[in-house]
Amino acid sequence: ATPTALMVGTGRGAQLGILIRGPEVLESTRRVDTVVLDKTGTVTTGRMKLQQVYVVDGAAEKDVLRLAGALEHASEHPIAQAIAVGAQERTGDLPAVEHFANVPGRGVRGHVDGHEVTVGRFLEVLPDELARAKSAAEAEGRTAVVVARDGVALGVLTVADAIKETSAEAVRELRALGLTPVLLTGDNRAVAQAVARAVGIDSADVMAEVLPEDKVDVVKRLQSEGRTVAMVGDGVNDAAALATADLGLAMGTGTDAAIEASDLTLVRGDLRVAADAIRLSRRTLATIK
Ligand code: ADP
Ligand code: MG
Repeated sequence: ATPTALMVGTGRGAQLGILIRGPEVLESTRRVDTVVLDKTGTVTTGRMKLQQVYVVDGAAEKDVLRLAGALEHASEHPIAQAIAVGAQERTGDLPAVEHFANVPGRGVRGHVDGHEVTVGRFLEVLPDELARAKSAAEAEGRTAVVVARDGVALGVLTVADAIKETSAEAVRELRALGLTPVLLTGDNRAVAQAVARAVGIDSADVMAEVLPEDKVDVVKRLQSEGRTVAMVGDGVNDAAALATADLGLAMGTGTDAAIEASDLTLVRGDLRVAADAIRLSRRTLATIK
């Protein structure tokens, strides 16, 4: 590949809304056969909204919302922001939190009024009524988190996130280029399958409930199977996987950590541009050969 032709490809990339770390990046896109897509913020908008509140007998909806809102107020996760904003709208001022801790891939914990409160996925077993509400929401693609006090479940909150309008078309375009799309997420299996179905990813190619530190292992495993892997992500928890993939693509709307770990940045956060990037590099390299 001559440097001049690669520079031309780089310039064309900028016009398409693709920032390329260096011209040599285009070379590695050529052999890519698998595209791993993060769910939240990549396939979906990541702008979540609080939907339903389910509480156990004896617990008040307002109290459960205040506890959850207070903890989530201190976290930057899209789920957290939805809950903090929703709780504030519905209940007003939120109580103070002590000993706050963010537990990646699980949720948040801290003390409110002297009790330990958790929000997220910490409990293995739930009372029947909450378990049913949670499964029903997840089957429809909503994310459900459990609010517990001193280890006792008080309620379930559901948040929903819209699938980007361009995601289904992007998946079609990636397939047309001969690539296999894989969905990777820390979210629940049922939620992930509902999103995969909506955008056209095979159910066998959905990897759900993957902890942030394990996302990189999914990429390594695919590579050890002989695949050449592109990864598209937006979050801090995607950074290691983006850096390990043969080609890392960050959403320009995502976190700095994701952008810094990537070879390419899709400026507008439109997944269709991932297909443009691969098409562009193939064309650039074909011109050179
Ligand atoms: P993704 O891979 O889709 O970006 P994460 O790895 O960030 O998702 O989170 C995985 C799961 O952990 C979420 O679906 C949720 O159940 C739980 N979780 C993470 N952060 C929080 C939080 N701040 N509050 C409640 N639950 C959380
Ligand atoms: Mg994400």
